[in-house]
Amino acid sequence: MGVNRENYEAIKKELDRQGITLVAVSKTKPASEILELYGLGQRDFGENYVQELVAKAAELPADISWHFIGHLQTNKVKLILPFVQLVHGVDSLKLLKAISNEATRQGRVTDCLLQVHIAEEETKFGLDERELEEILETINREPLAGVRIRGLMGMASFTEDAVQVRSEFERLQAIYRRCAREGWDTLSMGMSGDYQLAAAAGSTMVRIGSLLFGERLR
Ligand SMILES: *Cc1c(COP(=O)(O)O)cnc(C)c1O
Repeated sequence: MGVNRENYEAIKKELDRQGITLVAVSKTKPASEILELYGLGQRDFGENYVQELVAKAAELPADISWHFIGHLQTNKVKLILPFVQLVHGVDSLKLLKAISNEATRQGRVTDCLLQVHIAEEETKFGLDERELEEILETINREPLAGVRIRGLMGMASFTEDAVQVRSEFERLQAIYRRCAREGWDTLSMGMSGDYQLAAAAGSTMVRIGSLLFGERLR
């Protein structure tokens, strides 16, 4: 199959015009395809699996910014921190503390996004608004030296209903605006099927896989 260059160039141009960062989601895709997009200038890549990210980071150019967009388990935190630019899916205080402790041990400060649950489906990870506020209050009282929260991440419902998807993104944007602290600059929302709705609702970063790399088996 290979990389869809036309899609890449059109999407990149469309997003650049709006000041939105494109994270190319390369999970399950070979290093050769990542290099192809890299050759077109792409530097931000997103991965969902720790082992896969670590293996790719070891063999691909050092100036790639790796985004971890999957569900991170606390026991994998130490493996991934040396390689990751931004952890998108932090959805508990326990995980945030684990990242901070390990980052401190490694002499780093790791950028993180808190994941908010906006979809109708039960299955998607994320904090509800009350949990988000509790975490923000807690770290306000007891700052975590090893992490820097840069904003929020969310996934809309998997549905063709554009009205619903738009209203979920708008809700996340409103939460972002209300909760934003000093240093927040990132609202990560939008995937292949809904990035235009996300962009219209105020996304600053989209995570796009299949439009660039073709369909995945998983
Ligand atoms: C796989 C994945 C994406 C990309 O999905 P596409 O529909 O292929 O663009 C974006 N965000 C997350 C969290 C993902 O797991």
